[in-house]
Amino acid sequence: MPPVVGVLALQGDYAEHQLALHEQGLATRQVRTVRDLPGLAGLVLPGGESTTMLKLLDVEGLWAPLGAALRSGVPVLATCAGMILLAERVLDPVQRSYGLLPITVVRNGYGRQFHSGTFALQGEALPAGTTGTFIRAPRITAVGAGCAVLATRGPDPVLVAAGPIVAACFHPELQEGHPVTVQFAARVRTAAARVSAAVLGAAQFAAEQA
Ligand code: GLN
Repeated sequence: MPPVVGVLALQGDYAEHQLALHEQGLATRQVRTVRDLPGLAGLVLPGGESTTMLKLLDVEGLWAPLGAALRSGVPVLATCAGMILLAERVLDPVQRSYGLLPITVVRNGYGRQFHSGTFALQGEALPAGTTGTFIRAPRITAVGAGCAVLATRGPDPVLVAAGPIVAACFHPELQEGHPVTVQFAARVRTAAARVSAAVLGAAQFAAEQA
């Protein structure tokens, strides 16, 4: 059984994320209610409209339970609106967020629809020629301590990580086999294998004690 990744499915391009993860051999579960959260090996917060997502998180009573899942230590991939939900500070306008990523983001910081497009990315962890598709993307204007910049677009950080959380201003799920998706899938597999090894170890210990 492949590890199951939860994809927040209240709004936005969650279906594309599911497809991209299935292509990497992972299973997915749409997260719409609290009941969808237990047992997940990873979490994805997709792109879309962060303001709408915030409203729906409240309507579904998901704000706090999802926050607990995001803090649980499982690998997290957040893209675009998902990154906005995790940022420490959100500007234009100021907006509530989980504050788990020490970054400041300006919503639609590259302009609106007109300025969307696919651009070259620079980053040691990415193969040469990697690009990212930006759609009314947030712009990271400050990166705090404890946050690593994994890739830039020109002078701007666009892929950042803090602990098990990786967040992108762009949409890896819109490109087949994008390195960001591939690397996330690898992290999920490693983390899931560690958990099953620990569970097996505990079972073995219990059997020896019996
Ligand atoms: N502009 C959107 C927001 O502010 C994010 C856009 C996206 O996720 N592609 O929430």
